[in-house]
Amino acid sequence: MEQKGQVAELFSSLMFDEPLLRVLRVMQGDHPSLPSVSVYFQGCDAFPKCLGCHNPETWEFDERFAIDFRHLVEHTIAKLRLLLSTYDKVALVLLGGEPLSVRNRRFAYMLAKTVKEIFQEQVVVLVYSWRSPKDLLELDIPLDYFDEYVLGRYMKKYHRDGFPASANQMYLTKEELFKILEILKNKSKVQKVDIKKGDVLCNC
Ligand code: SF4
Repeated sequence: MEQKGQVAELFSSLMFDEPLLRVLRVMQGDHPSLPSVSVYFQGCDAFPKCLGCHNPETWEFDERFAIDFRHLVEHTIAKLRLLLSTYDKVALVLLGGEPLSVRNRRFAYMLAKTVKEIFQEQVVVLVYSWRSPKDLLELDIPLDYFDEYVLGRYMKKYHRDGFPASANQMYLTKEELFKILEILKNKSKVQKVDIKKGDVLCNC
């Protein structure tokens, strides 16, 4: 899925910009089975916002939370190394806020890429997003380095004590997501072929 030109472009654009970070901390519970280093990005582009959102303080794209990307990478790697000195396998969890917002998604991607290249299977990268699989088809970043996803809005009426916290949300592996994306792509191709300008869609 990853394209060389796209990644080179991402790298060069990161040199002139900074991610918005609310907090980075070691957590239990952001991943369903692994201890994690959780990166909470600042800024959420869901509209309207989810009723009952647990992190409303992360909504605003507030530039006061801008941090040096290299610092974020170094800090994340140091915390992961610390966790891996106790556990065989851990998670890097990207959440917020919305890690896949236009403002932060290139950094989420590059952070995941760097971590996977260093730690490989020792670190599972989980990303939370209010977006649906269909929305991910339109993203301008590759999805290769995110191992797992929690997709969908938090909805208070579907709240539960299990994982994910809202029963409507989908917890997917990368392989499961890619299968869904393939189906969606094929479906849209069929629709494009079937319906042409000037076609009579109904004779009634
Ligand atoms: S997407 Fe996440 S941060 Fe944004 S409103 Fe919904 S629950 Fe809150």
